Amino acid sequence: TVVDLREILSEAVDRTALLAQERGVKIGVGGDTHAFVFGDPDLLMTAFRNLIDNALRYSPEGTTVGVGIRERDGLVSVSVTDQGPGIPVDEQERVFERFYRVDTARSRSTGGTGLGLSIVKHVVSNHGGEVTLWSQPGQGSTFTVRLPESEEQGERVDALQARSDGEPVGESEKR
Ligand code: ATP
Ligand code: MG
Repeated sequence: TVVDLREILSEAVDRTALLAQERGVKIGVGGDTHAFVFGDPDLLMTAFRNLIDNALRYSPEGTTVGVGIRERDGLVSVSVTDQGPGIPVDEQERVFERFYRVDTARSRSTGGTGLGLSIVKHVVSNHGGEVTLWSQPGQGSTFTVRLPESEEQGERVDALQARSDGEPVGESEKR
């Protein structure tokens, strides 16, 4: 299925409006309006919801969370940026592991199981993409998801079909 990421992200942000209000955090979506990827809309929604929930949950009152979309060179990147506490450099890889939570005292007071980011990583890699983290303690965090644009997928299928033209029918299925 071709998924309109702009639509998914706007909906994800709408669904977190109450949480944002409770937390006293502002949230908005910006950037390119055309961002289509190929995949499962429900799984992509789950992944982006997790990133947005984290950004809202771990940010102090009065800060802003920004969701930015950019489409370039056949890739769509979505970044979720917050002005929260950030994540120490030596823990930045580990937060994607199952059940890993930074600073248990702080995390315990916010609830959660430590599964969110491992789900994000799985969903994104199953869609042929990657998720990266930039963060400097005290300066907030930015999670960036990069996914292949759906037009690229279309082109790849076209290229495969063009290449198999002239080959005996069914030749490619044997491999
Ligand atoms: P769950 O998402 O399963 O409810 P969780 O939020 O603790 O629980 P993850 O989403 O996997 O689990 O995040 C792992 C840990 O990484 C969090 O406990 C938190 O310590 C840290 N973390 C994640 N996102 C942020 C963020 N935006 N700012 C600061 N710390 C974060
Ligand atoms: Mg989480």
